[in-house]
Amino acid sequence: MAEPESIMVVTPHPDDSESAAGGTIAKWCAEGKKVTLVVCTNGDKGTSDRSINPVDLAKTREKETLEAARVYGLAGVEFLRFPDQALDDTTEFRERLVWAIRKHKPDLFMCIDPGRPYIRHRDHYYSGRVALDAVFPYSRDHLAFPEHLDAGLEPHKIEEIWLFRPQEPDTYVDVTDHFETRQNALHSHVSQVGLRDPERDERSRKRLAETGKTAGMELAESFKKIEMFR
Ligand SMILES: [Zn+2]
Repeated sequence: MAEPESIMVVTPHPDDSESAAGGTIAKWCAEGKKVTLVVCTNGDKGTSDRSINPVDLAKTREKETLEAARVYGLAGVEFLRFPDQALDDTTEFRERLVWAIRKHKPDLFMCIDPGRPYIRHRDHYYSGRVALDAVFPYSRDHLAFPEHLDAGLEPHKIEEIWLFRPQEPDTYVDVTDHFETRQNALHSHVSQVGLRDPERDERSRKRLAETGKTAGMELAESFKKIEMFR
């Protein structure tokens, strides 16, 4: 496909996109691309601290996501606000994703690889699975959720899908120049990863360097690419 101008990233929990694709998102934003983030759950079960209540946690995580969006320079964030650990293959979830796709009309669509076998987070699996269904065939077909037409939302064809946390990576992005932004965006999620510290930066750097080795890059993130309608 031609260089994508408009990109949508669907993340199961508020911080998954940062840990898996933060360098790539930072690079796209630095290149002036319009990147919209769709956050499926409110992350209200993401703590081991028994003194924090879920309602406050959800509010905190929304603020943290908006801070990450500011760090990157995202074009926008759509919060679907499903409860944490409650994603399922429902019509409601699928419709919300189709609505976001038709509203923002991305050329390139990114979601989590649903293919992880055995032990997996249900939210991760359903976020990936339902997002792929939303792209094809639902967003494409005008008779799928026809009420969108009344709201002025036209069907939309996605040209390319990238899966993060891929089972079979085939696409690598050099994120060497975007490490700082990636780390700052990731550490916007203070409730999940704490404040930035040199040791954690070093661990992140090592992990990205390991991925980079395969592709001959200093620091890289990996994806699986699916080209549509060829
Ligand atoms: Zn997650």
